[in-house]
Amino acid sequence: MIDTVKLDGKLVSISIKEKLKQEIYNLKKNNITPKLAAIIIGDDPASKIYVNTKHKTFKKFGCESQVNKFKDNIKQNELIDFIQKLNNDSSIHGILVQLPLPSHLNSDEILNSINPIKDVDGFHPMNLGLLLKGNPSFIPCTPYGCLEILKYYNIDVKSKSIVIIGRSNIVGKPLMNLLSGSYGNATVTLCHSYTRNLKDYTLKADIIIAAVGKADLVTRDMIKENSIILDVGINRISDQKSDKGYRIVGDVDYEGLRGKAKAITPVPGGVGPMTITMLLSNTIKAAKII
Ligand code: NAD
Repeated sequence: MIDTVKLDGKLVSISIKEKLKQEIYNLKKNNITPKLAAIIIGDDPASKIYVNTKHKTFKKFGCESQVNKFKDNIKQNELIDFIQKLNNDSSIHGILVQLPLPSHLNSDEILNSINPIKDVDGFHPMNLGLLLKGNPSFIPCTPYGCLEILKYYNIDVKSKSIVIIGRSNIVGKPLMNLLSGSYGNATVTLCHSYTRNLKDYTLKADIIIAAVGKADLVTRDMIKENSIILDVGINRISDQKSDKGYRIVGDVDYEGLRGKAKAITPVPGGVGPMTITMLLSNTIKAAKII
């Protein structure tokens, strides 16, 4: 049995935030306080929690955070006009639109209206294009967090075989480009809902990154010994033993993989905390540019 290492995202976050504290201090000495403006639309409970956690983290680290709440019947042009105001407000360095948006809104058009130099989520086509070309400006926070976990634990990805499961614009696709490009020099296979026999791919992988949103998608029989697993998934499953009646799990059967995988990120406490930390990092970067 292998002594599986827990890739502790909280630990990595603490170490990165220590460095960010100094950067915030230096900016403040020059009368610049990094400021994030978040936009949240509607009453989605998960979105509210995410935005609130981001807000609290920014405040805790002496940064500014403004949460802009709108009803879910807001019109497309009203939202874009509001984003333009944020674009023109020089005190704001980062703009974030919490996804998903209500179905009557065109997410692409809304994300495209954010000034790319304030696009701290890295979802603007210009920033995604720079990333694709191998010269990223703002790396989307979750892929960025995955890279930082690998770096912290000295996991060299060069020439490794990596399987990413999930091809979203916010996780899978940016990660595929970063890891296969000069950042990683790995050989990357991108699997998705139309992939036949997922196990054929995962069994050959040195590193698996699961970003799907399906509990227990990756099971013990699907991995090879000594592989490294990053679990991006966040799934709520019912649990009568818990006070809340549910618990949060990833896409990977964490307990089942222990003893076979070399290292795994837990959920919660793996990639999740990194996403917020990298948002702070991107906003500090924006504050230095603007
Ligand atoms: P998404 O819903 O946009 O995409 C899911 C992807 O999974 C799709 O590309 C789809 O093709 C693929 N897929 C679906 N079923 C599959 C199957 N059976 N086999 C293989 N591929 C399959 O998802 P997303 O926004 O990238 O999020 C994915 C998961 O990551 C969700 O659980 C989300 O909550 C979580 N997430 C976590 C963080 C974090 O900070 N930890 C950040 C973003 C997303």
